[in-house]
Amino acid sequence: MLDQLGADRMANVPFSGIREIFEECDRLEDQGTDIVHLEIGRPDFDTPSPIKQGAIDALDRGDVHYTSNYGIQPLREELATKLEEENDIRYDPDDEIVVTCGATEAVFVTLLGIVEAGDEVLVPDPSWTYSAGIQLAGAEPVTYELDPQTGFQPDIDSLREAVSPETKLLIVNSPNNPTGGVLDEAHATEIRDFAVDNNLLVLSDEIYEKILYDDKTHQSLAALNAMRDRTVTINGFSKAYSMTGWRLGYLAAPAELVDPIIRARQYTSTCASSISQHAGVRAVGSGLHEPMVEAFERRRNRVSERIERIPGMTCPNPTGAFYAFPTLPEGYTDDREFVFSLLRESGVALVPGSVFGDAGKGRLRIAYSNSVERIDEAFDRLEHWL
Ligand code: PMP
Repeated sequence: MLDQLGADRMANVPFSGIREIFEECDRLEDQGTDIVHLEIGRPDFDTPSPIKQGAIDALDRGDVHYTSNYGIQPLREELATKLEEENDIRYDPDDEIVVTCGATEAVFVTLLGIVEAGDEVLVPDPSWTYSAGIQLAGAEPVTYELDPQTGFQPDIDSLREAVSPETKLLIVNSPNNPTGGVLDEAHATEIRDFAVDNNLLVLSDEIYEKILYDDKTHQSLAALNAMRDRTVTINGFSKAYSMTGWRLGYLAAPAELVDPIIRARQYTSTCASSISQHAGVRAVGSGLHEPMVEAFERRRNRVSERIERIPGMTCPNPTGAFYAFPTLPEGYTDDREFVFSLLRESGVALVPGSVFGDAGKGRLRIAYSNSVERIDEAFDRLEHWL
C-alpha cells in the first residue's frame, strides 16, 4: 500500500529497529511473561518534583499559549548562562538558542535547515538514528567508525576515507548512544582539526553530557578554538532530568546558522509546549540530575561485573550515558537472532547491535536504565539460558 500512497523519499527510511523489540515485549507481556527491560533508552526515574512544580505553576498562571519559535525568554536566558558557565561557549539568548520538542526535533530541524540533495553527512557507526533524518532532508549519510579498541573513539582514518567534496556536515555524539563511550581530549582535538581542514559544519549531540562516570569530563566541541562558528550544539532534558515525555530539547548555534534552522522550525511544531518550557527553567543548573547519575554509576558497575563473567562477552568499560555495547557471548554470531531467542525463551529484552549500523553487528546494546536487582535478574536468566 505504501508503495502506491507514500512519497518516494520515504522508501529508504526504515522503521526503527527498536520498535520490533518493543512490540515483541508487548506481545509477551500480554501473555503474562515477566520481561526484564534492558532495551529502553530512557531513565526509569520520576521527574524530580521541583521541575514538576514549574509545570504546575505555569498551568496555574495560565501560561498555556503558543510561545516564540525560539522558546520562552527565561528558558533561553537560563540556557545561555548554563552554556557559558558549564560548557564555556557564549550564545546570545535572543537569536542563537532555539528550544525544541526534544533533541529529536533539534536534530531534525538542523538537518532540514542545513543539508539538501547532493550533500553528504558523516555519521558515526554505530549510532543513534541520524541517518533517517539525513535522508528525509534529501542528503546522503556516509558512515565513519567508532573504534572499540580505543573505547569507541572516532576512527580518524575512517573519517579521512569517508570525507568527499560533497561532505557538508559531520555528526558527533558524546557521551554516546549506543556505545557508552566518551570523546577524550585527544580525539576531540583531532575532530576539530578534521572539521577545520575539510571546512565542515558539525552537529554535536551532547544530550548525555551529564551522565558521566569515573571522573570523566564533558568537552563541548563548540568550545574548542575555531569551532563555535561551524557547530550546532544539540542538547535536551530527557536524559539528565528524566523528562522523556515532556518533549523538551534545544539547539545552540551562531545566528547565521540558526537563521535557516529557525525557518524550518517555524513550520514543524511552532514551539515546544509552554508548560514543559516553564518546567525546564527549574531544571537548568539545578543539580537535580546528580542522584540519578549516582544510581546509574552503581548500575554501570554491576553491568560491567556481570558482562565480565560471561565468556566471549567483552566491551570497553562504559564511561558515559547508560549503555553497554558488548560483543555476543562465545559461540554466537547473529545479534538479531540472539536477542529474539533470549527475549522469547528467557524474557530478557536487549537491542541487537546491528540496529545501530554495520559496526554494531555481533554486539548487543544493554540499557541499564533499570534497578540493580532487575539487572541481576536479567544476567541470572541470561547465564542460565546460555
Ligand atoms: N540523541 C541521542 C543520542 C539519543 O539517544 C536520544 C534519545 N534516545 C536523542 C538524541 C533524543 O532525545 P529527546 O528527543 O528525547 O530529547
